Amino acid sequence: MNKNSLASLLILFTYTFYSCSEKPLYFENAYVIENINVIDPLEGLSEEMTLVIKKNKISHLFKSKKIKLSSENTIYNGTDQFLIPGLWDAHVHFAFETILAEAMSNLFLSYGVTSVRDTGGPIDFVLPYKTHSLKHPKTTPKIMIAGPLVDGKYNVYDGSSVSYPLLSIQNASITVLEEQVQGLIDKKVDFLKAYEMLSPEQFKRLAQMAQENDLKLTGHVPLSLDVITASNLGLNSMEHLRNIELSMSKDFDVLLTDRTLALKNSNNLSGSKLRTSLHQSQRMRAVASIDHERREEVLNTLAKNQTWQIPTMVLYQTFANKKYLNEEFQNHFKVLPENVRSKWMKKINVTSSDLDPEILKYTDWSQKMVQQMHEKKIPFMAGTDTPIGYLVPGLSLHDELIQLKRSGFSNLQTLKAATFNPALYFGMEDTLGRIKPGYEADLVLLEKNPLESIENSRTIKAVIKSGKFMNRSYLDSLQVN
Ligand SMILES: [Zn+2]
Repeated sequence: MNKNSLASLLILFTYTFYSCSEKPLYFENAYVIENINVIDPLEGLSEEMTLVIKKNKISHLFKSKKIKLSSENTIYNGTDQFLIPGLWDAHVHFAFETILAEAMSNLFLSYGVTSVRDTGGPIDFVLPYKTHSLKHPKTTPKIMIAGPLVDGKYNVYDGSSVSYPLLSIQNASITVLEEQVQGLIDKKVDFLKAYEMLSPEQFKRLAQMAQENDLKLTGHVPLSLDVITASNLGLNSMEHLRNIELSMSKDFDVLLTDRTLALKNSNNLSGSKLRTSLHQSQRMRAVASIDHERREEVLNTLAKNQTWQIPTMVLYQTFANKKYLNEEFQNHFKVLPENVRSKWMKKINVTSSDLDPEILKYTDWSQKMVQQMHEKKIPFMAGTDTPIGYLVPGLSLHDELIQLKRSGFSNLQTLKAATFNPALYFGMEDTLGRIKPGYEADLVLLEKNPLESIENSRTIKAVIKSGKFMNRSYLDSLQVN
């Protein structure tokens, strides 16, 4: 047992003792949420609890019936309401739509997202957001950053077009990569992200550097590698299941040989074109030729290594079904700054409504893959890729919860993927992501029970960030621009 849990236990014992007396309890410099149904992601539902919040922490948790509160306390009546830990969106990009970046933190909070994991942007762009969040934890979500995507000689997100803004760093050699990655480590990134055009040697060195510095390495499996090798070399988490299908195909050897040749890039294509051509020529061919034994080997390796998955199913679903063409989807853009809304609508208005059957098929395959991985006890985090795919920051996380539920997660497992799991991933599981004394008071108060229906995650009455209580009208004001 660590110090924190020991302290919490002592506090709990002290007040269990007090509770036997008739003396009404008064909590100084604190407030109390009375008679609330608490949902801890590990322990599930505890009905009619009383929770005390002091400064930025949960200081006490009692069974409401067992104590008497002094009327001197500041009390919020939580009767018939539900409390869950603050939500995480484990895959966001502050740098993708720079005119939206300033508004993103408020939007996240307004939808109950109290922590995010930024999975790629220029270090000088994302670092100030992280620094600001550390200085102002009560008014900003916790922001964990990777800095830029660490890419290879032909980098994909090179800033050459609207679709490929600058999110990555190009590395022509291992020496360049070492220098640039050391620069990111010096700037105290929270994790590192490998991208698709890395050579096997570059990826191996990156994984070593991550390990030496005790940083998680996430990413897309580089096109030059198979997922088993990448996971065994130290890829701790995978975004969007990217490039997983290659290793499961019975044509694995042929596909990898073709790929290795194409990656020599004799036609001197841009990184994005080269990557797209490989996805187009190989992805569906691999999906159509999945070999049962190979798939088992991949899944067993990911389970053995506990390689985290952030499938971003909401991104795939929105993209494949072009959900953004629906008026109902666009209605949610009202929470965005006007210039973002008009930019997005302009792009949407010139998008064809035809759906691509291959993309639909791939999305369907991905959803089934998530289910199979979940059955193998491979760990998951809820992430969306907002604001890519016209996904509204904060709101899209609730859609991802529905997607996870559809992939066979129970409602409690779904909540865990968006609360406790990201805390565990970052080694913060003793202080964040649960509802226990001693934990950070990052909480979401819901009107309806999310264990009955996960869609109830959006019935938000209030959000608490590092102890700061934000009621519904305050949250609404965060969405007005
Ligand atoms: Zn992303």
